[in-house]
Amino acid sequence: MEFIDKKVVSINNLMLKFRKKKCTPKNLLILFPHCIQNSQCKQNVKNDLSECKRCGKCKIKDLLEFSEKYGVNICLATGGRVALQKVMAEDIHGVIAIACEKELRTGLMAAMSKAIFAVPNLRPHGYCKDTDVYLDEVREAIEQFLQ
Ligand code: SF4
Repeated sequence: MEFIDKKVVSINNLMLKFRKKKCTPKNLLILFPHCIQNSQCKQNVKNDLSECKRCGKCKIKDLLEFSEKYGVNICLATGGRVALQKVMAEDIHGVIAIACEKELRTGLMAAMSKAIFAVPNLRPHGYCKDTDVYLDEVREAIEQFLQ
């Protein structure tokens, strides 16, 4: 199944590149999972991203900085249903979704009408704990949507 998940993600991203979908910063959303937060961090970022002290121990700091630099929306997905609601919002025309391949495939299939660039997370400590992401991949996706 993991092989299929990876294939769906890479085919989706390839098709999106061909579509050359563009949108304005206010219509673009960066969506990321809670497991990217450092597991030792006590800040309640789940509730409010401004709680992040930007200590740099996890990539939430960098994702927030991208959101500010490019003026795009950002949201921590606390669960699949909430994530889908955010993605399907009328004012959202493009999404950069960070998650494991399985979650990405599920999300892509549930929100086929939306232009979603899927960024698989890195899992140096296994699934759902202290996950990571290649920032260059996120930056490139933002710039492709906004160009
Ligand atoms: S950057 Fe630091 S303060 Fe912000 S969520 Fe990560 S560990 Fe917590």
